[in-house]
Amino acid sequence: MSLLREAERCFANQGSHAALNALITTLHQSGQWLERVKDADARRTRGTPKSKVDGRLIAFKDNICTRDLPTTCASNTLDKFISPFNATVVQQLQDAGALIAGKANLDEFGMGSHSIHSKFGPVRSLRCDHDAESLSAGGSSGGSAVAVATAQCYASLGTDTGGSVRLPAAYTGTVGFKPSYGLVSRWGVVAYANSLDTVGVLGSDVSSVRNVFDIVNQHDPRDPTNLSPSSRSRIDSHLRMPALASRVTSSLKIGIPLEYNISELAPSSRRAWSRSLAYLRQQGHTLHTVSLPTTKLALSAYYVLAPAEASSNLAKYDGVRYGNRPEGPDNITSTEGCLYANTRGEGFGSEVKRRILLGAFSLSADSMDNYFIQAQRIRRLVQHDFNAVFRACQPLNSPGLGKNLDSGEAGVDVLVCPTAPSPPPRISSLMGHGATTSSLEAYVNDIFTVPASLAGLPAISVPVTTGSAKNSEDSDLAGIQVIGQYGDDGLVLKVAELLEGKHL
Ligand code: GLN
Repeated sequence: MSLLREAERCFANQGSHAALNALITTLHQSGQWLERVKDADARRTRGTPKSKVDGRLIAFKDNICTRDLPTTCASNTLDKFISPFNATVVQQLQDAGALIAGKANLDEFGMGSHSIHSKFGPVRSLRCDHDAESLSAGGSSGGSAVAVATAQCYASLGTDTGGSVRLPAAYTGTVGFKPSYGLVSRWGVVAYANSLDTVGVLGSDVSSVRNVFDIVNQHDPRDPTNLSPSSRSRIDSHLRMPALASRVTSSLKIGIPLEYNISELAPSSRRAWSRSLAYLRQQGHTLHTVSLPTTKLALSAYYVLAPAEASSNLAKYDGVRYGNRPEGPDNITSTEGCLYANTRGEGFGSEVKRRILLGAFSLSADSMDNYFIQAQRIRRLVQHDFNAVFRACQPLNSPGLGKNLDSGEAGVDVLVCPTAPSPPPRISSLMGHGATTSSLEAYVNDIFTVPASLAGLPAISVPVTTGSAKNSEDSDLAGIQVIGQYGDDGLVLKVAELLEGKHL
Protein backbone atom coordinates (compact mmCIF):
# COMPACT_ATOMS: atom_id res chain seq x y z
CA MET A 1 0.00 0.00 0.00
CA SER A 2 1.29 3.47 -0.79
CA LEU A 3 2.04 5.76 2.13
CA LEU A 4 -0.64 8.10 0.87
CA ARG A 5 -3.28 5.36 0.96
CA GLU A 6 -2.08 4.29 4.40
CA ALA A 7 -2.29 7.84 5.73
CA GLU A 8 -5.72 8.43 4.18
CA ARG A 9 -6.95 5.26 5.80
CA CYS A 10 -5.61 6.41 9.19
CA PHE A 11 -7.46 9.74 8.81
CA ALA A 12 -10.66 7.96 7.83
CA ASN A 13 -10.34 5.76 10.93
CA GLN A 14 -9.74 8.83 13.10
CA GLY A 15 -13.09 10.14 11.87
CA SER A 16 -15.03 6.92 12.23
CA HIS A 17 -13.56 6.11 15.68
CA ALA A 18 -13.70 9.62 17.14
CA ALA A 19 -16.17 8.41 19.81
CA LEU A 20 -13.49 6.18 21.32
CA ASN A 21 -11.78 9.35 22.53
CA ALA A 22 -8.31 7.97 21.79
CA LEU A 23 -6.91 11.07 20.14
CA ILE A 24 -7.47 14.44 21.78
CA THR A 25 -6.09 16.57 18.95
CA THR A 26 -5.44 15.42 15.43
CA LEU A 27 -3.45 16.74 12.55
CA HIS A 28 -5.79 18.20 9.96
CA GLN A 29 -5.59 16.84 6.49
CA SER A 30 -3.85 19.93 5.19
CA GLY A 31 -2.31 20.26 1.74
CA GLN A 32 1.08 20.68 3.38
CA TRP A 33 0.62 17.33 5.07
CA LEU A 34 -0.35 15.68 1.81
CA GLU A 35 2.77 17.04 0.16
CA ARG A 36 4.96 15.55 2.86
CA VAL A 37 3.47 12.08 2.47
CA LYS A 38 3.64 12.32 -1.31
CA ASP A 39 7.32 13.27 -1.03
CA ALA A 40 7.88 10.25 1.21
CA ASP A 41 6.13 8.04 -1.33
CA ALA A 42 8.41 9.39 -4.05
CA ARG A 43 11.51 8.72 -1.92
CA ARG A 44 10.25 5.22 -1.28
CA THR A 45 9.71 4.59 -5.02
CA ARG A 46 13.23 5.85 -5.74
CA GLY A 47 14.52 3.46 -3.05
CA THR A 48 15.81 6.32 -0.88
CA PRO A 49 13.38 6.57 2.07
CA LYS A 50 14.66 8.65 5.00
CA SER A 51 13.92 5.72 7.33
CA LYS A 52 11.41 2.93 7.90
CA VAL A 53 8.97 5.46 9.35
CA ASP A 54 9.29 7.96 6.50
CA GLY A 55 5.80 9.22 5.61
CA ARG A 56 4.10 7.31 8.42
CA LEU A 57 1.68 8.70 10.99
CA ILE A 58 2.70 8.42 14.63
CA ALA A 59 0.48 9.43 17.57
CA PHE A 60 2.05 10.84 20.73
CA LYS A 61 0.70 10.54 24.24
CA ASP A 62 -0.34 14.01 25.34
CA ASN A 63 2.40 14.26 27.98
CA ILE A 64 5.02 14.42 25.20
CA CYS A 65 5.67 18.00 24.11
CA THR A 66 4.88 19.05 20.56
CA ARG A 67 5.44 22.54 19.17
CA ASP A 68 2.50 22.48 16.79
CA LEU A 69 -0.19 20.88 18.95
CA PRO A 70 -1.15 21.53 22.60
CA THR A 71 0.29 19.30 25.34
CA THR A 72 -2.31 19.00 28.10
CA CYS A 73 -1.39 15.84 30.06
CA ALA A 74 -5.22 15.50 30.16
CA SER A 75 -5.16 18.00 33.03
CA ASN A 76 -7.05 21.23 33.60
CA THR A 77 -3.85 22.75 34.87
CA LEU A 78 -2.22 22.52 31.42
CA ASP A 79 -5.43 23.29 29.57
CA LYS A 80 -3.98 25.91 27.27
CA PHE A 81 -0.36 24.85 27.27
CA ILE A 82 1.51 24.79 23.97
CA SER A 83 5.14 23.84 24.28
CA PRO A 84 7.64 26.14 22.59
CA PHE A 85 9.67 23.08 21.56
CA ASN A 86 9.33 19.50 20.43
CA ALA A 87 10.37 16.68 22.74
CA THR A 88 13.52 15.01 21.47
CA VAL A 89 11.56 11.87 20.49
CA VAL A 90 9.13 13.96 18.42
CA GLN A 91 11.99 15.71 16.68
CA GLN A 92 13.85 12.45 16.03
CA LEU A 93 10.79 10.89 14.43
CA GLN A 94 9.99 14.00 12.40
CA ASP A 95 13.58 14.15 11.17
CA ALA A 96 13.15 10.52 10.09
CA GLY A 97 10.19 11.58 7.96
CA ALA A 98 7.31 10.62 10.29
CA LEU A 99 4.27 12.83 10.78
CA ILE A 100 2.41 13.56 14.00
CA ALA A 101 -0.97 11.83 13.68
CA GLY A 102 -2.26 13.54 16.82
CA LYS A 103 -2.03 13.64 20.58
CA ALA A 104 -3.38 10.69 22.51
CA ASN A 105 -5.66 10.70 25.54
CA LEU A 106 -4.27 9.42 28.85
CA ASP A 107 -4.76 9.31 32.58
CA GLU A 108 -3.92 12.76 33.92
CA PHE A 109 -0.11 13.10 34.05
CA GLY A 110 0.15 9.34 33.42
CA MET A 111 -1.38 8.38 36.76
CA GLY A 112 -3.79 5.50 36.37
CA SER A 113 -4.31 2.08 34.88
CA HIS A 114 -7.50 2.51 32.85
CA SER A 115 -7.33 5.90 31.07
CA ILE A 116 -10.42 7.08 32.92
CA HIS A 117 -8.78 9.95 34.85
CA SER A 118 -8.72 12.40 31.98
CA LYS A 119 -10.24 15.85 31.69
CA PHE A 120 -11.38 14.75 28.22
CA GLY A 121 -13.30 11.75 29.57
CA PRO A 122 -12.33 8.10 29.41
CA VAL A 123 -10.70 6.38 26.48
CA ARG A 124 -13.00 3.69 25.09
CA SER A 125 -11.72 0.44 23.73
CA LEU A 126 -13.41 -1.32 20.82
CA ARG A 127 -13.44 -4.48 22.91
CA CYS A 128 -16.66 -5.46 24.65
CA ASP A 129 -17.55 -8.40 26.85
CA HIS A 130 -20.32 -10.94 26.17
CA ASP A 131 -22.97 -8.50 27.41
CA ALA A 132 -21.73 -5.85 24.95
CA GLU A 133 -20.30 -3.76 27.81
CA SER A 134 -17.26 -1.61 26.91
CA LEU A 135 -14.01 -2.78 28.44
CA SER A 136 -11.16 -0.72 29.82
CA ALA A 137 -8.48 0.30 27.32
CA GLY A 138 -5.88 0.11 30.09
CA GLY A 139 -3.78 3.04 31.16
CA SER A 140 -2.28 5.37 31.32
CA SER A 141 -1.36 5.25 27.61
CA GLY A 142 -4.85 3.97 26.67
CA GLY A 143 -5.31 6.58 23.91
CA SER A 144 -2.02 5.57 22.28
CA ALA A 145 -3.07 1.90 22.41
CA VAL A 146 -6.59 2.40 21.03
CA ALA A 147 -5.26 4.67 18.26
CA VAL A 148 -3.04 1.77 17.16
CA ALA A 149 -5.71 -0.92 17.68
CA THR A 150 -8.12 0.96 15.42
CA ALA A 151 -5.47 1.89 12.82
CA GLN A 152 -5.72 5.63 13.40
CA CYS A 153 -1.92 5.74 13.10
CA TYR A 154 0.97 3.50 12.09
CA ALA A 155 2.37 3.38 15.65
CA SER A 156 2.30 5.52 18.76
CA LEU A 157 4.48 6.63 21.63
CA GLY A 158 3.38 6.35 25.22
CA THR A 159 5.14 6.55 28.55
CA ASP A 160 5.62 3.66 30.93
CA THR A 161 6.41 4.45 34.56
CA GLY A 162 4.96 1.30 36.09
CA GLY A 163 3.28 -0.43 33.15
CA SER A 164 1.41 2.27 31.26
CA VAL A 165 2.47 1.05 27.84
CA ARG A 166 2.30 -2.68 28.54
CA LEU A 167 -1.07 -2.78 30.32
CA PRO A 168 -3.01 -0.92 27.57
CA ALA A 169 -1.27 -3.10 24.98
CA ALA A 170 -2.45 -6.22 26.81
CA TYR A 171 -6.01 -4.89 27.11
CA THR A 172 -6.33 -3.77 23.48
CA GLY A 173 -4.51 -6.60 21.69
CA THR A 174 -1.57 -4.46 20.57
CA VAL A 175 2.18 -4.72 21.13
CA GLY A 176 3.59 -2.39 23.82
CA PHE A 177 7.31 -2.08 24.46
CA LYS A 178 9.05 -0.40 27.39
CA PRO A 179 12.76 -0.16 26.54
CA SER A 180 15.55 -0.23 29.12
CA TYR A 181 15.49 2.91 31.27
CA GLY A 182 17.71 5.59 29.79
CA LEU A 183 17.83 4.40 26.18
CA VAL A 184 15.15 6.77 24.91
CA SER A 185 15.31 10.48 25.64
CA ARG A 186 12.84 11.95 28.14
CA TRP A 187 13.66 15.53 27.23
CA GLY A 188 10.35 17.28 26.61
CA VAL A 189 8.34 14.48 28.23
CA VAL A 190 6.36 15.76 31.20
CA ALA A 191 7.72 14.02 34.28
CA TYR A 192 5.63 11.80 36.51
CA ALA A 193 8.31 9.85 38.42
CA ASN A 194 11.70 10.55 36.84
CA SER A 195 13.55 7.51 38.11
CA LEU A 196 10.95 5.23 36.49
CA ASP A 197 9.60 7.19 33.50
CA THR A 198 10.39 5.55 30.17
CA VAL A 199 9.11 6.45 26.72
CA GLY A 200 7.61 3.33 25.14
CA VAL A 201 6.31 2.32 21.73
CA LEU A 202 2.96 0.78 20.75
CA GLY A 203 2.30 -0.85 17.41
CA SER A 204 0.12 -3.45 15.77
CA ASP A 205 3.12 -5.78 15.48
CA VAL A 206 6.67 -6.12 16.75
CA SER A 207 8.19 -5.01 13.48
CA SER A 208 6.48 -1.58 13.53
CA VAL A 209 7.51 -1.19 17.19
CA ARG A 210 11.10 -1.98 16.27
CA ASN A 211 11.04 0.49 13.37
CA VAL A 212 10.05 3.30 15.73
CA PHE A 213 12.37 2.18 18.53
CA ASP A 214 15.36 2.16 16.15
CA ILE A 215 14.81 5.88 15.52
CA VAL A 216 14.39 6.99 19.15
CA ASN A 217 17.08 4.71 20.61
CA GLN A 218 19.76 7.40 20.47
CA HIS A 219 21.84 9.42 22.89
CA ASP A 220 20.41 12.82 23.76
CA PRO A 221 22.80 15.15 25.59
CA ARG A 222 19.84 17.22 26.83
CA ASP A 223 18.56 14.36 29.03
CA PRO A 224 21.05 13.71 31.84
CA THR A 225 19.53 10.27 32.51
CA ASN A 226 19.97 9.23 28.89
CA LEU A 227 22.76 6.73 28.28
CA SER A 228 25.99 8.20 26.96
CA PRO A 229 27.58 6.79 23.78
CA SER A 230 30.28 5.12 25.91
CA SER A 231 27.69 3.32 28.08
CA ARG A 232 25.86 2.25 24.93
CA SER A 233 29.02 0.74 23.46
CA ARG A 234 29.74 -0.96 26.79
CA ILE A 235 26.34 -2.65 26.57
CA ASP A 236 26.94 -3.62 22.92
CA SER A 237 30.31 -5.18 23.59
CA HIS A 238 28.90 -7.01 26.60
CA LEU A 239 26.13 -8.52 24.43
CA ARG A 240 28.68 -9.51 21.79
CA MET A 241 30.50 -11.75 24.28
CA PRO A 242 30.46 -15.30 22.81
CA ALA A 243 28.27 -16.73 25.59
CA LEU A 244 25.59 -14.14 24.92
CA ALA A 245 25.99 -13.64 21.17
CA SER A 246 25.29 -17.35 20.58
CA ARG A 247 21.72 -16.80 21.79
CA VAL A 248 20.79 -15.51 18.35
CA THR A 249 21.25 -18.96 16.84
CA SER A 250 20.89 -21.40 19.73
CA SER A 251 17.90 -22.27 21.86
CA LEU A 252 16.96 -19.80 24.55
CA LYS A 253 16.57 -20.39 28.26
CA ILE A 254 13.14 -19.10 29.17
CA GLY A 255 12.56 -18.23 32.83
CA ILE A 256 9.19 -18.76 34.51
CA PRO A 257 9.01 -16.58 37.63
CA LEU A 258 7.24 -18.67 40.27
CA GLU A 259 6.01 -15.70 42.26
CA TYR A 260 3.93 -14.50 39.28
CA ASN A 261 1.74 -17.57 39.62
CA ILE A 262 -0.59 -15.87 42.10
CA SER A 263 -3.90 -17.35 43.17
CA GLU A 264 -5.73 -14.26 41.83
CA LEU A 265 -4.53 -14.98 38.28
CA ALA A 266 -7.59 -15.23 36.01
CA PRO A 267 -7.97 -18.59 34.22
CA SER A 268 -7.64 -16.91 30.80
CA SER A 269 -4.34 -15.25 31.81
CA ARG A 270 -3.01 -18.51 33.25
CA ARG A 271 -4.01 -20.41 30.10
CA ALA A 272 -2.34 -17.84 27.81
CA TRP A 273 0.80 -18.04 29.94
CA SER A 274 1.08 -21.82 30.06
CA ARG A 275 0.31 -22.21 26.36
CA SER A 276 2.86 -19.57 25.43
CA LEU A 277 5.46 -21.46 27.44
CA ALA A 278 4.46 -24.76 25.82
CA TYR A 279 4.73 -23.13 22.41
CA LEU A 280 8.22 -21.82 23.15
CA ARG A 281 9.27 -25.30 24.29
CA GLN A 282 7.93 -26.78 21.04
CA GLN A 283 10.12 -24.29 19.18
CA GLY A 284 13.18 -25.80 20.86
CA HIS A 285 13.67 -23.41 23.77
CA THR A 286 14.07 -24.69 27.31
CA LEU A 287 11.92 -23.70 30.27
CA HIS A 288 13.30 -23.02 33.76
CA THR A 289 11.45 -21.98 36.87
CA VAL A 290 13.11 -19.12 38.71
CA SER A 291 12.37 -17.30 41.93
CA LEU A 292 12.07 -13.53 42.31
CA PRO A 293 11.22 -13.42 46.02
CA THR A 294 10.89 -9.65 46.34
CA THR A 295 8.20 -9.49 43.66
CA LYS A 296 5.42 -9.52 46.22
CA LEU A 297 6.74 -6.31 47.76
CA ALA A 298 7.34 -4.55 44.46
CA LEU A 299 3.83 -3.14 44.04
CA SER A 300 3.82 -1.54 47.50
CA ALA A 301 7.29 -0.11 46.94
CA TYR A 302 6.23 1.32 43.57
CA TYR A 303 3.16 3.00 45.08
CA VAL A 304 5.39 4.71 47.65
CA LEU A 305 8.16 5.76 45.26
CA ALA A 306 6.11 6.88 42.25
CA PRO A 307 3.79 9.19 44.24
CA ALA A 308 6.80 10.56 46.18
CA GLU A 309 8.51 11.59 42.96
CA ALA A 310 5.18 12.82 41.56
CA SER A 311 4.48 15.07 44.52
CA SER A 312 7.87 16.68 44.07
CA ASN A 313 7.53 16.99 40.27
CA LEU A 314 4.06 18.46 40.43
CA ALA A 315 5.00 21.16 42.93
CA LYS A 316 5.85 23.45 40.02
CA TYR A 317 2.20 23.73 38.95
CA ASP A 318 1.59 26.69 41.21
CA GLY A 319 -0.08 29.13 38.85
CA VAL A 320 3.10 31.23 38.67
CA ARG A 321 5.69 29.07 36.95
CA TYR A 322 3.37 26.46 35.42
CA GLY A 323 -0.31 25.71 35.49
CA ASN A 324 -3.48 27.62 34.78
CA ARG A 325 -4.12 30.40 37.24
CA PRO A 326 -7.81 30.40 38.14
CA GLU A 327 -9.93 33.53 37.94
CA GLY A 328 -10.49 35.49 41.13
CA PRO A 329 -8.44 36.86 44.01
CA ASP A 330 -5.02 35.34 44.46
CA ASN A 331 -3.75 37.39 47.34
CA ILE A 332 -2.33 35.00 49.90
CA THR A 333 -3.54 37.16 52.77
CA SER A 334 -7.10 37.18 51.49
CA THR A 335 -9.52 34.80 53.13
CA GLU A 336 -11.26 34.13 49.82
CA GLY A 337 -8.32 33.06 47.81
CA CYS A 338 -4.90 31.60 48.00
CA LEU A 339 -3.15 31.31 44.65
CA TYR A 340 -1.42 28.02 45.30
CA ALA A 341 -4.45 26.25 46.78
CA ASN A 342 -6.84 27.56 44.14
CA THR A 343 -4.56 26.69 41.26
CA ARG A 344 -3.96 23.17 42.44
CA GLY A 345 -7.46 22.61 43.80
CA GLU A 346 -9.03 23.45 40.46
CA GLY A 347 -6.24 22.26 38.21
CA PHE A 348 -5.74 18.68 39.34
CA GLY A 349 -8.14 15.77 39.24
CA SER A 350 -8.84 13.50 42.19
CA GLU A 351 -6.33 10.75 41.33
CA VAL A 352 -3.48 13.25 40.92
CA LYS A 353 -4.42 14.88 44.23
CA ARG A 354 -4.39 11.45 45.87
CA ARG A 355 -0.88 10.77 44.57
CA ILE A 356 0.37 14.19 45.71
CA LEU A 357 -1.00 13.57 49.21
CA LEU A 358 0.47 10.06 49.33
CA GLY A 359 3.84 11.33 48.16
CA ALA A 360 3.92 14.33 50.49
CA PHE A 361 3.07 11.99 53.36
CA SER A 362 5.76 9.41 52.65
CA LEU A 363 8.37 12.15 52.23
CA SER A 364 7.42 13.95 55.44
CA ALA A 365 9.93 13.85 58.29
CA ASP A 366 7.90 11.43 60.39
CA SER A 367 7.35 8.86 57.65
CA MET A 368 10.46 9.15 55.52
CA ASP A 369 12.27 6.27 57.25
CA ASN A 370 9.24 4.01 57.45
CA TYR A 371 8.05 4.42 53.88
CA PHE A 372 10.34 6.12 51.39
CA ILE A 373 13.62 4.65 52.60
CA GLN A 374 12.14 1.16 53.00
CA ALA A 375 10.67 1.32 49.49
CA GLN A 376 14.09 2.30 48.10
CA ARG A 377 15.54 -0.76 49.82
CA ILE A 378 12.90 -2.99 48.27
CA ARG A 379 13.68 -1.47 44.89
CA ARG A 380 17.31 -2.50 45.30
CA LEU A 381 16.24 -6.05 46.28
CA VAL A 382 14.03 -6.30 43.22
CA GLN A 383 17.03 -5.36 41.06
CA HIS A 384 19.16 -7.99 42.84
CA ASP A 385 16.47 -10.62 42.26
CA PHE A 386 16.54 -10.00 38.52
CA ASN A 387 20.34 -9.96 38.36
CA ALA A 388 20.41 -13.29 40.16
CA VAL A 389 18.30 -15.05 37.51
CA PHE A 390 19.58 -13.65 34.21
CA ARG A 391 22.45 -15.32 32.36
CA ALA A 392 23.72 -11.87 31.32
CA CYS A 393 24.92 -9.58 34.07
CA GLN A 394 23.77 -5.99 34.41
CA PRO A 395 26.21 -4.42 31.94
CA LEU A 396 26.34 -1.09 33.71
CA ASN A 397 27.30 -2.49 37.12
CA SER A 398 30.94 -2.09 38.00
CA PRO A 399 32.71 -5.33 36.92
CA GLY A 400 33.16 -6.70 40.46
CA LEU A 401 29.58 -6.03 41.47
CA GLY A 402 28.20 -7.46 38.24
CA LYS A 403 30.16 -10.68 38.67
CA ASN A 404 28.92 -11.31 42.17
CA LEU A 405 25.35 -10.99 41.14
CA ASP A 406 25.59 -12.68 37.79
CA SER A 407 24.16 -16.17 37.73
CA GLY A 408 26.36 -16.99 34.72
CA GLU A 409 25.62 -20.08 32.63
CA ALA A 410 22.94 -21.17 35.07
CA GLY A 411 20.83 -18.12 34.37
CA VAL A 412 17.97 -17.57 31.94
CA ASP A 413 17.86 -15.30 28.88
CA VAL A 414 14.39 -13.82 29.31
CA LEU A 415 11.44 -14.12 31.64
CA VAL A 416 7.97 -14.83 30.26
CA CYS A 417 4.86 -14.07 32.33
CA PRO A 418 1.41 -12.49 31.98
CA THR A 419 1.22 -8.71 31.53
CA ALA A 420 -1.95 -8.37 33.60
CA PRO A 421 -3.49 -10.65 36.22
CA SER A 422 -6.93 -10.55 34.60
CA PRO A 423 -8.76 -9.49 31.42
CA PRO A 424 -9.80 -5.84 31.09
CA PRO A 425 -12.62 -4.85 33.48
CA ARG A 426 -15.76 -3.10 32.29
CA ILE A 427 -15.49 0.68 32.21
CA SER A 428 -18.80 0.85 34.07
CA SER A 429 -17.24 -1.01 37.00
CA LEU A 430 -14.49 1.61 37.22
CA MET A 431 -16.36 4.92 37.05
CA GLY A 432 -19.75 6.52 37.48
CA HIS A 433 -22.56 5.35 39.72
CA GLY A 434 -21.99 1.66 39.09
CA ALA A 435 -18.30 1.80 40.05
CA THR A 436 -17.32 -1.18 42.13
CA THR A 437 -13.55 -0.88 41.85
CA SER A 438 -11.58 1.30 44.24
CA SER A 439 -8.36 3.12 43.36
CA LEU A 440 -6.48 0.59 45.42
CA GLU A 441 -7.95 -2.27 43.38
CA ALA A 442 -6.90 -0.50 40.18
CA TYR A 443 -3.32 -0.37 41.50
CA VAL A 444 -3.28 -4.20 41.66
CA ASN A 445 -3.44 -4.41 37.85
CA ASP A 446 0.17 -3.25 37.81
CA ILE A 447 1.41 -6.17 39.87
CA PHE A 448 3.27 -7.84 36.98
CA THR A 449 4.52 -4.69 35.29
CA VAL A 450 6.09 -2.70 38.14
CA PRO A 451 8.99 -5.05 38.95
CA ALA A 452 10.64 -4.47 35.53
CA SER A 453 10.04 -0.73 35.97
CA LEU A 454 11.71 -0.66 39.39
CA ALA A 455 14.74 -2.40 37.87
CA GLY A 456 14.72 -0.35 34.63
CA LEU A 457 14.55 -3.50 32.51
CA PRO A 458 13.24 -3.85 28.94
CA ALA A 459 9.78 -5.46 28.85
CA ILE A 460 7.19 -5.95 26.16
CA SER A 461 3.57 -7.10 26.05
CA VAL A 462 2.50 -9.17 23.03
CA PRO A 463 -1.06 -10.32 22.30
CA VAL A 464 -1.82 -14.04 22.09
CA THR A 465 -5.19 -15.75 21.83
CA THR A 466 -6.31 -18.99 23.37
CA GLY A 467 -9.53 -20.96 23.08
CA SER A 468 -11.60 -22.11 20.16
CA ALA A 469 -9.72 -21.55 16.91
CA LYS A 470 -12.93 -21.74 14.90
CA ASN A 471 -14.97 -19.30 16.86
CA SER A 472 -13.31 -15.99 17.67
CA GLU A 473 -16.19 -15.25 20.09
CA ASP A 474 -14.87 -17.98 22.35
CA SER A 475 -11.26 -16.90 22.09
CA ASP A 476 -9.54 -15.14 24.93
CA LEU A 477 -7.09 -12.40 24.10
CA ALA A 478 -4.30 -11.85 26.62
CA GLY A 479 -1.02 -9.99 26.82
CA ILE A 480 2.11 -11.99 27.49
CA GLN A 481 5.07 -10.13 28.88
CA VAL A 482 8.71 -10.78 27.99
CA ILE A 483 11.28 -9.22 30.34
CA GLY A 484 15.03 -9.13 29.65
CA GLN A 485 18.24 -8.08 31.38
CA TYR A 486 19.13 -4.38 31.21
CA GLY A 487 20.21 -3.49 27.67
CA ASP A 488 18.94 -6.76 26.20
CA ASP A 489 16.17 -4.96 24.31
CA GLY A 490 16.96 -6.70 21.01
CA LEU A 491 16.44 -10.13 22.55
CA VAL A 492 13.19 -9.08 24.19
CA LEU A 493 11.87 -7.91 20.81
CA LYS A 494 13.02 -11.16 19.23
CA VAL A 495 11.20 -13.37 21.75
CA ALA A 496 8.11 -11.18 21.40
CA GLU A 497 8.21 -11.84 17.67
CA LEU A 498 8.15 -15.59 18.33
CA LEU A 499 4.93 -15.23 20.29
CA GLU A 500 3.05 -12.39 18.64
CA GLY A 501 -0.39 -13.04 17.26
CA LYS A 502 -0.19 -16.75 18.01
CA HIS A 503 -3.40 -18.67 18.53
CA LEU A 504 -2.37 -21.17 21.16
N1 GLN B 1 -0.73 2.54 36.81
C1 GLN B 1 0.55 3.02 37.25
C2 GLN B 1 0.38 4.30 38.01
O1 GLN B 1 -0.70 4.82 38.03
C3 GLN B 1 1.50 3.17 36.11
C4 GLN B 1 1.39 4.44 35.39
C5 GLN B 1 2.41 4.64 34.33
O2 GLN B 1 3.15 3.71 33.99
N2 GLN B 1 2.49 5.87 33.84
O3 GLN B 1 1.31 4.80 38.58
